[in-house]
Amino acid sequence: MAAAPSPPPTNRVDAFWHDGMLNHDTGRGVFDTGSDPGFLDVLEKHPENPDRVRNMVSILKRGPISPYISWHTATPALVSQLLSFHSPEYINELVEADKNGGKVLCFGTFLNPGSWDAALLAAGNTLSAMKHILDGKGKIAYALVRPPGHHAQPSQADGYCFLNNAGLAVRLALDSGCKRVVVVDIDVHYGNGTAEGFYQSNDVLTISLHMNHGSWGPSHPQSGSVDELGEGEGYGYNMNIPLPNGSGDRGYKYAMTELVVPAVESFKPEMVVLVVGQDSSAFDPNGRQCLTMDGYRVIGQTIRSLADRHSGGRILIVQEGGYHVTYSAYCLHATLEGILDLPDPLLGDPIAYYPEDEAFPVKVVDSIKKYLVDKVPFFKEH
Ligand SMILES: [Zn+2]
Repeated sequence: MAAAPSPPPTNRVDAFWHDGMLNHDTGRGVFDTGSDPGFLDVLEKHPENPDRVRNMVSILKRGPISPYISWHTATPALVSQLLSFHSPEYINELVEADKNGGKVLCFGTFLNPGSWDAALLAAGNTLSAMKHILDGKGKIAYALVRPPGHHAQPSQADGYCFLNNAGLAVRLALDSGCKRVVVVDIDVHYGNGTAEGFYQSNDVLTISLHMNHGSWGPSHPQSGSVDELGEGEGYGYNMNIPLPNGSGDRGYKYAMTELVVPAVESFKPEMVVLVVGQDSSAFDPNGRQCLTMDGYRVIGQTIRSLADRHSGGRILIVQEGGYHVTYSAYCLHATLEGILDLPDPLLGDPIAYYPEDEAFPVKVVDSIKKYLVDKVPFFKEH
């Protein structure tokens, strides 16, 4: 008789992925404009293209972290599942846009043939990743998805995003009995859609570390500034940490230690959601924050230790931006090394060579902390 198969190791990442997400074709042009001015010989792919995610899949399958990754796939989300976060009118707009062959929903955000099916797969894989954790089948799940989601608001597409994958997963956790969920968003842009979805809730603490980019037009009215604290019962439960350009590994580490850790310690979440975008890396065409693999590794370790203390180690990781086609994959690898709390780096950084200076980000983080201690009751306890 064959021996029973040994159970998979607990310290692993359950990755959720489906090839169909590669069918969202965002086209070519001048960066993310989708347009050809007529006087350039060579246009480039839209930054949110399949190649970036292909490399994320391949580095996890063939890189040194591969023994720690277990692969899963899921079916598309049902339209009815989307209504936990999005308005029916908005979902109808997307369905109609797909039926009509596509639509430019806002700047840089193209719903083309194939895009809607990919968006439903992204939502479906993120929901399944969360359900996997909620069902006790694994503690750490990673939704490797595109199109991204954290700018998608309840009733508005924005910034390459159609459906708020992380927001849908948070709703599922709440509806399944989780009392408190924290979302820590380290994509270089403000996670405005997720923040808006839970702006009046005190059962979801949304924290976003981002560059100080402000609003970028009618689809993105929120600026990501420190005084957007939430409303009603949700007052104090949206924490924006706009960091100066070039904050770097040490600036981010200081922000995590001084702001994110104390807030999460006070909040005591039953579920931790880490929203990752490698567009906060030093080489990203869409970001100015200068993180390297070391910085992502430290963020991963910090999140793991918070989860071990509060959520029984339960962490959902949701993929957002990250537009450097090769370095994004390396930074993802480092983030997951940190999440796994591995004692030594598995993979060296091939291109981190710029000096950094944390003096300015430290000053900014100190001033944000002073502001929050004044304004936010639950933060004052620290
Ligand atoms: Zn981003």
